[in-house]
Amino acid sequence: MSNAFFSVPVAQNEPVKSYAPKSKERESLLQVYKSMKNQDPIDIPMYIGGEEVRTATKKTISPPHNHKHIIGNYNVGELKHVELAIQKALSAREQWSQTPWQERAAIFLKAAELLAGPYRDKMNAATMLCQSKNVFQAEIDAACEMIDFFRFNVQYMTKIYKEQPESAPGIWNRLEYRPLEGFVFALTPFNFTSIAANLCAAPAMMGNVIVWKPSQTQVYSAKVIMDLFKEAGLPDGVINMVTVSGRVAGEAIFNHSDFAGLHFTGSTDVFRTLWKDMANNIEKYKSYPRVVGETGGKDFVVAHPSAIPSQVATALSRGSFEFQGQKCSAASRAYIPENIWPEVKKILKEQVGSFKMGSPEDTTNFINAVIDSKSFNNIKEYLDYCKSASDAEIIIGGNCNDEIGYFVEPTVVVTTNPSFKTMVEEIFGPVLTIYVYASTDFEKTLDLVDKTSQYALTGSILSQDRYAIQLATKKLENAAGNFYINDKPTGAVVGQQPFGGARGSGTNDKAGAPMNLSRWVSARTIKETFVTPQDYKYPFLG
Ligand code: NAD
Repeated sequence: MSNAFFSVPVAQNEPVKSYAPKSKERESLLQVYKSMKNQDPIDIPMYIGGEEVRTATKKTISPPHNHKHIIGNYNVGELKHVELAIQKALSAREQWSQTPWQERAAIFLKAAELLAGPYRDKMNAATMLCQSKNVFQAEIDAACEMIDFFRFNVQYMTKIYKEQPESAPGIWNRLEYRPLEGFVFALTPFNFTSIAANLCAAPAMMGNVIVWKPSQTQVYSAKVIMDLFKEAGLPDGVINMVTVSGRVAGEAIFNHSDFAGLHFTGSTDVFRTLWKDMANNIEKYKSYPRVVGETGGKDFVVAHPSAIPSQVATALSRGSFEFQGQKCSAASRAYIPENIWPEVKKILKEQVGSFKMGSPEDTTNFINAVIDSKSFNNIKEYLDYCKSASDAEIIIGGNCNDEIGYFVEPTVVVTTNPSFKTMVEEIFGPVLTIYVYASTDFEKTLDLVDKTSQYALTGSILSQDRYAIQLATKKLENAAGNFYINDKPTGAVVGQQPFGGARGSGTNDKAGAPMNLSRWVSARTIKETFVTPQDYKYPFLG
């Protein structure tokens, strides 16, 4: 019997390992990477109600940096599999939703420790191999951020449960935080293994049951996530993973009366389509679904004339090109004043010119491949457009080659047109566009930054002048959900910089923060009166 108010361990960010040459962690990780690469082809099932489900339709999995090499395949499901996953989730709901919070917390705290220890190499290696992240990018995502999500969310969960109303004399008011009445659909992107896990784990931690559809290019690390949940003790049916097309998943889910919430991260157009589908079916649902969507970005860097050129260049080279620019937060447009531009350009050319590109297995490669042929072709189209434009010039990179892997050179475009296509549209690749402005036009440029794109995810100001920082912070108030001063606009850390954007970039519910978790509960207020009135007459009637 639980008869105490338990405290949970105080969450701390998982330290990032260095993987420096000759370090133990590097040897161990590369060994696991090689064995995963060279093992007999794996066959990744769907996980429905604790069963491994396979189908006759298989799709191959290959590393983006070596697309002829076959790692294995996953099983493509149909409508009936999504329906079965919904059914299994709903059957698991009764017991899971009644499971005391400390039992749920223990599962995710255990998952964090397993990932910090025995699962770390597997999760990182799967992410390096099939999402083409270098060792550092894999470590900060697949290991550290996922661990942080689990640990901090446990702490935030208890913070939410502790929030209680006042009680006047003679009554006792209480708030209960019920899981949503139905199931939650987690629909996840390819680019962050930790986001994929968190979109399932956050609602599950709050007592919900989940149908999860991972991106088809993240299935290998998705399998490792399911193994981790299982080993941590998550009961069967709480999280069900189906590998179907988005359209098939949507058809089953958005027509179901028990659909209670969408936890989405991905592109803006897809989110808008999903929102329309939900709206068109709204009468079918028992409750209004909770909708949380973190979507695209056209993230900016603005430099003030007082900014230090080497700092600006580094914010751009790291902020734009790490993980091949495939971070929702990656800097993809920059506004640099004329006075520092020659120096920024020189340093940026030197830095980007020294990047090595290739497989993550060679840890001297800073740049790896983009995720798949669709993405490669999309980026190539943008590069071709830039090459043929009269108001833009490619000053760094601009080439790509998909013979062995989907490799795109980190590319810097300079335009004289602040509304140039690549200043406005999300490309989701290693392409940065720069607009050089007259040094006297700082304030006008801030208006440009604010108005140029539909997105408002991340952005940064670099300046040595405090008044300029103050002005930019005010004028760009609604231009970014995560705003950085004298830093690159990427690399948000759970517990430190709650992450999410507004405008076209999403519902801004801040992943890895109490705000997000509170979306997955439906509060019930309970008022208890101790001495119940027995006569209707109030004193004023006397
Ligand atoms: P995507 O929108 O192509 O896919 C996301 C998920 O939706 C995948 O599982 C996909 O299979 C599914 N999907 C695609 N079309 C669908 C449809 N019509 N119906 C139902 N499901 C569908 O995104 P992606 O390429 O995997 O990820 C990149 C995008 O995600 C970028 O736009 C990036 O900015 C965004 N992103 C945002 C954040 C954030 O926190 N704001 C974080 C990571 C990625």
